[in-house]
Amino acid sequence: MYRKSLLVSAAAVAALVTVASAHERAVEFPDAEDGRVILAADLHTHSVFSDGEVWPSIRVKEAQRDGLEMLAVTEHLEHQPHKADIPHPDRNRSYEVARQTLESSGEEGLSLINGAEITRGQPYGHINAVFLQDANALLTEDAEDALAAANAQGAFVFVNHPNWIPQMPDGIARLSDVHKRLIEDGLIQGIEVVNGTLDGHSEHALQLALEYGLTVLGTSDIHGLVDWTHEAGHGGHRPMTLILADGRTPEAMKAALFAGDTVAWAYDDLLGKPENVEAVVRTCLHLETEGYPDDTSVLPVDIVNACPLDFTLRNRSEETFQNASDTIHVERNDRFTAQVRMGGEKPVVALSFDVLNAEIGYREPLTLTLETGVPQGDGE
Ligand SMILES: [Zn+2]
Ligand SMILES: [Zn+2]
Repeated sequence: MYRKSLLVSAAAVAALVTVASAHERAVEFPDAEDGRVILAADLHTHSVFSDGEVWPSIRVKEAQRDGLEMLAVTEHLEHQPHKADIPHPDRNRSYEVARQTLESSGEEGLSLINGAEITRGQPYGHINAVFLQDANALLTEDAEDALAAANAQGAFVFVNHPNWIPQMPDGIARLSDVHKRLIEDGLIQGIEVVNGTLDGHSEHALQLALEYGLTVLGTSDIHGLVDWTHEAGHGGHRPMTLILADGRTPEAMKAALFAGDTVAWAYDDLLGKPENVEAVVRTCLHLETEGYPDDTSVLPVDIVNACPLDFTLRNRSEETFQNASDTIHVERNDRFTAQVRMGGEKPVVALSFDVLNAEIGYREPLTLTLETGVPQGDGE
């Protein structure tokens, strides 16, 4: 009886492994057309050194499994619920523990950066500072002294979850007058439009980013386990920021963050400034065709998706499809073959789409045109 149950569980484990490998966990994007690289970053995470539930080593191991290129350790400075067990007099300690884990792993490819969450009531709310040298310098009475200390260290600073219901009961993201002044003074450079822990998806925050010239961020704000919260390894991924960088170094990624070259990614949604979202989508999607079949001008065209997210497209072209409605779904790392009614054997196929899962403004999808030449037959 015991032996039999062992056999059953071995089979069950084998099945699980097959399912897991069918959904590659580590995210990877092709390089952009302009030569930049698209790198995955999570700049908002917690461990037991603030109100998280895991030791910092787990944060590093998760990030390596998820294929992240950058991970920030951002404990709450002021909110320390585990203080009785972990006194935490040195606020860099969580980062140092994580760094030891990274170094002893011997793996390359993940940049670990020190950070902190300045945790205040309104009008400041919660503000993250990353690329810190010394988080202890941010333990100040006055929130603005903490922001000044962060900026003095060259930190990148962003407003967290601006639509958090305890601070915004109507769920609409807003910046306080104090935020606006700090942005104007160059002390805040970014804003979260997606926060994975508070289930925050904010088109209002995207609108604020566009209006105030802030860098768009998606973060997990993970406290528990990425696997449990975001189905990592089973087709899901944590919300994160895609950074369009000139290289894979932390310096190049930091420069891209300050330049605002980012896209937030959560579920299949991409949110960001129009040029950045378009750069990512053009990296992901392209058309392929082998030419007109005999006796018809209905052209088979593959819409190829080279990225680890599904796309939902609405056809805006003059041409319609013989085999599908105007709304089509192109699965991750897959392709959809549209039979395009070309109305004649034209040498180029150009298809215009609303990319329904890509937001470039307040409730505004990206529209773009993909095109490719049509190989000509031998004229027989
Ligand atoms: Zn927070
Ligand atoms: Zn947080």
